[in-house]
Amino acid sequence: MNFDYSHPRTDVSFGRGRREEIGDVTARHGDDALVVTTRNAMQEAGFLDDVLTSLDEAGVGATVYSDADPNPTVADVVDAVETAGDASVVVALGGGSPTDVAKSAALALASFDEPPTVEEFWGYASGERRVEDALPLVAVPTTSGTGSHVDPWAVVTRADERAKVGFGGDPLVPRDAIVDPEIADEMPERLAALTGFDAFCHLNEAYVARGRNALTDAQALRGLELVNRSLRRSVEGSAEARDSMAVADTLAGFCEATSGVIATHALAHAIGAYEPDVAHGRALASVAAEVARYNVENGDDETKRRYGEIAEALDAPIADRKLDAPLAVDAFEELIADLGIDVSVGELVEASPEELAENAATYMDAATANNPVEAEEEDLLEILEEAY
Ligand code: MN
Repeated sequence: MNFDYSHPRTDVSFGRGRREEIGDVTARHGDDALVVTTRNAMQEAGFLDDVLTSLDEAGVGATVYSDADPNPTVADVVDAVETAGDASVVVALGGGSPTDVAKSAALALASFDEPPTVEEFWGYASGERRVEDALPLVAVPTTSGTGSHVDPWAVVTRADERAKVGFGGDPLVPRDAIVDPEIADEMPERLAALTGFDAFCHLNEAYVARGRNALTDAQALRGLELVNRSLRRSVEGSAEARDSMAVADTLAGFCEATSGVIATHALAHAIGAYEPDVAHGRALASVAAEVARYNVENGDDETKRRYGEIAEALDAPIADRKLDAPLAVDAFEELIADLGIDVSVGELVEASPEELAENAATYMDAATANNPVEAEEEDLLEILEEAY
């Protein structure tokens, strides 16, 4: 055995009500914060007010950028940077989109003297420029699904090129994360289902990814057990289950940080690139079972055995992990049906399977290369045709 593992440097403060600590935590990194959030139920529930009050009490000035819509574009990032003023620290209050904008803004604020053009910032998203510096980040997740509060990745979309890409580096790992499940309690059922399914994908993808290692294996399996035990009850509103999903999401972020994602996320990003209004969790739900089927059918013994273990964590009746690996596909379909998020790719997008396969192969090549079974454009097309 031979592997490299870097644990994210994030200090995690976990517990109900701990959002009150945001001011003191943020003050360690700077006295002028850009707060990135979204205009939605979170503000109505008063969480933004809680954060601003806490920052004020700690003597931290705040500028709010609240236009972080789903599938944020590079233009949104430039807007956030133009709003930032003299910010020396960036606070993300939200699910995936605000956190992606916050990370991207933290990068841009430290890397450009003037707000960058879309083209200039795209150099980072496309991988032409290395992520070398960012303002310190503090993340307060409002959903339990992205893992983004402890991982180095940001996802941005460039609408003119239909490109939705993930990029990142160590500077984009938040210094602190305040995981307060009282916030996630406010998620409506459907958001709990879709974001919880995202966490499930990060965990099962990390467990089979080529970039897997023995330490993320342990985190992924424990996370999958928590998802199996808690995701359905979390959707029904159980506070205890929402605590467990917040733990599973954090474990998933650790996994993503070193093991990465596979063809499932590559295809979901292609769907999001063509249809920015489609929630990430729905796009994942439309392809996850077919990617698992493709990997089980074409994978080597180790890949099959791993899917058998995933199925076992999901309570499937496994007698032989390798031979019974196809039960993982059934377990994925059952979870998707129980969550009420069953959907086909063709219901989500007008783009053809050919267009989606080419998009995924072009813009998400790191994820397709991380798939346990070779996933070239023609293979992605085969998966999409089944899922369409
Ligand atoms: Mn995801």
